[in-house]
Amino acid sequence: MENYKAIAKSTSRYFRRTLMDLLRRQRGLVSPMAAMNVLRQMASKKSGAMGRCVQVNLLLTRRCNLRCSFCCVDKLSGSKNRIKEFEVDFARFKELFAHPLVAINLSYVLMGGEPLLCNDLERIVAFLKSKGRFSRIITNGLLLTGDRLKSLEKAGLSQAIISLYDTNEEYVGNFLPSVKSGVPIYLSKVLLGSDLENRYDELLDGLKVCTAPQCRGLMLSNCMSYGDGEGDVVYDDNPLLMKFYGDVLKKYPEVPVSFAYPVLRRTEGMKKKCSVPWNTVYLDAKGNLGMCCKFQAHPDGKFGNIFSADSEERMANGPAFRRLRTGLLSDRPNIPAECAGCSNLYDDCSLRMLFEKSSARD
Ligand code: SF4
Ligand code: SF4
Repeated sequence: MENYKAIAKSTSRYFRRTLMDLLRRQRGLVSPMAAMNVLRQMASKKSGAMGRCVQVNLLLTRRCNLRCSFCCVDKLSGSKNRIKEFEVDFARFKELFAHPLVAINLSYVLMGGEPLLCNDLERIVAFLKSKGRFSRIITNGLLLTGDRLKSLEKAGLSQAIISLYDTNEEYVGNFLPSVKSGVPIYLSKVLLGSDLENRYDELLDGLKVCTAPQCRGLMLSNCMSYGDGEGDVVYDDNPLLMKFYGDVLKKYPEVPVSFAYPVLRRTEGMKKKCSVPWNTVYLDAKGNLGMCCKFQAHPDGKFGNIFSADSEERMANGPAFRRLRTGLLSDRPNIPAECAGCSNLYDDCSLRMLFEKSSARD
């Protein structure tokens, strides 16, 4: 049980630190309307309808300077000729922000593609800051220089999250220890089953950049299947996962790490916990909606569009959303088909099960 307790402690330390950093960077300037909305969201009951979202995940661009095998942005980009249609500039951002479903939120995750390719990023960040909102970027960090970080700091960026891949590990490993910035920087790493199997030591060593003084924490997440088969999803019966978590704790004891939930093979009797389709809005430049990290904003508006004439669609309550939410609320033991292979389904009860299984094996 010791390992499980250490994992839970480290994960909660990670989230506490994230929240404190957000508040500290904001220096008291928090929109009362958006803050009140967070409280209302916490008190609200889940239903088939949207309820109150508190976070926008906005695809500033569908372009990226990397090509990761598991990336869905590439798969969703539509034809290459269309990719330029999906750029958010400052004017477009203000149009999106004018929508009530977007304006009510407290936290804005500016992502892509690669958000540093957006020329108006600093203006967007400064605008959000002036409105009392948190802004975070998720980046591969390859375009992050000391100067760019300074200009983002000046604009008021609340946090930068750098995703680690084999392709940027070296750059980030050199860059991060060499910078000083008021912007809290976090690292994230997607665990792939094949890496655990074939490159265990390399994977563990590759995380060492998390010990750089500028790094405030490390988030491990689980690869998701995007409908092309099981891919690299890490299931709870993978004996290497708990071993890996134990080794991360041993090797990087000072770093707050948020550990990824495994995907459960057997889900009978489990209560579904995911609340993403209630609290987060996924959006692209054209106002196309996404349902969650697995169902990102579709370029053809398959999940609805906030500028649609249909009011249900406009407020993220179209048929696809309702089916997904109703499936998550259902008492039936089977999971919504859409959620198969997703690690967000069961929160930390799946980690406890993983621990119990690994103890039984020992
Ligand atoms: S860095 Fe991120 S957005 Fe770019 S290809 Fe990789 S996963 Fe996709
Ligand atoms: S559990 Fe389902 S709704 Fe939640 S993030 Fe995963 S796929 Fe999306």
